[in-house]
Amino acid sequence: MYKIILKPGREKALFRRHPWVFSGAIADVEGNPGVGETVDVLDSRGEFLARGAYSSESQIRVRVWSFDSDVVIDEAFFRQRLQISIVNRELSIVNSQQLITAHCPPSTGRLVHAESDGLPGLVVDRYADTLVMQVLSAGAERWRETIADLLLELTGARRIFERSDVEVRKLEGLPLRIGILRGEEGPEPLRVQIEENGLKFWVDVSQGHKTGFYLDQRLTRARVRALAGGRDVLDCFSYSGGFTLNALAGDAASVTAVDSSADALALAEENRTLNDLPSEKIEWLEGDVFQVLRTFRDGRRTFDMIILDPPKFAPTSSLAQKAARGYKDINLLAFKLLRPGGILVTFSCSGGISAEFFQKIVAGAALDAGVDAQIIERLGQSPDHPVALNFPEGAYLKGLIVRVC
Ligand code: SAH
Repeated sequence: MYKIILKPGREKALFRRHPWVFSGAIADVEGNPGVGETVDVLDSRGEFLARGAYSSESQIRVRVWSFDSDVVIDEAFFRQRLQISIVNRELSIVNSQQLITAHCPPSTGRLVHAESDGLPGLVVDRYADTLVMQVLSAGAERWRETIADLLLELTGARRIFERSDVEVRKLEGLPLRIGILRGEEGPEPLRVQIEENGLKFWVDVSQGHKTGFYLDQRLTRARVRALAGGRDVLDCFSYSGGFTLNALAGDAASVTAVDSSADALALAEENRTLNDLPSEKIEWLEGDVFQVLRTFRDGRRTFDMIILDPPKFAPTSSLAQKAARGYKDINLLAFKLLRPGGILVTFSCSGGISAEFFQKIVAGAALDAGVDAQIIERLGQSPDHPVALNFPEGAYLKGLIVRVC
């Protein structure tokens, strides 16, 4: 076994069971491990700390598979981890149905959430009979074929589409890859129909954002539906219509949906037709949300509910200040457009922005807009995107439902 020996005092994160070893913590590498090969991590006195996958290119030099020296990293290991991950999903879906009545057939949702499921660098989403797999680390890449075979066997899915076309792969020295990994080649773009909260959606798994759908917003989409009745709703960054269709299904008076992508809006309109929701209540607007909000402000247009679900403004904490200005800008404008009693549903999915910081930004925006407002709910990612307590970085999505007094 290859050995990675840490500098004195650099074992603390592993004692807390954090699954990453940074290059700066390493004193010595014994042998010449290949990309993704299994290595043992030892402290400066030679005591075993963890077993993980080596990534010679990445700043995160080792991602831990196990903290147990008896565990062998082989097919049986991945079988067990995948089984646990999949079974946990079934349990959390049952729980959320009972507690929150957000219906989602077990056939759609995230099956594996990387580090938080003990499988660093591996994301697997299920859309009906299709799995979409994202391989984000050298270790997951090395076991990709084994994992693909196991996933088919454990889920009974018909095919696996790979969406390893994510920039972070470059940090691992891995090429971007996209295409069918298991099952028949289909016509491109590959689209799958899913059902969420009783609404149908087309998911473009080959070209859509992420793996095709923002599964992490499932519970919030149900909340929006519950709150939208009778309101004039503005859905900013509407993508394929997730919040828009839920607002319509919740009997909103009208919905204005804004996105900069014409393709996303076209797919959203297809999704509206698929569910036979009223076209006269909806206005699709192709444009930049920052501009559209200003135009509405200048035209004194107002709404009863505004949803802000922007893309990641700060992928890393170094970009947090610049991102904060972006969040402040759109939240401030939204507060100005809300009627008294109006509701703001606002999000940040930036890893570099903490929940506490995000709340401060929203508070600053309300102050500058001159409105009094209260948080009525705190939101996060759906339970099929769990956050391992030893991996707080997993809590990337934070949101607030705020009521203007
Ligand atoms: N709310 C959606 C997900 C939003 S993803 C859901 O639940 O499915 C972010 C969306 O913002 C993408 O569709 C992207 O096209 C769009 N977008 C990114 N920058 C934008 C901008 N400046 N103005 C308008 N839309 C933008």
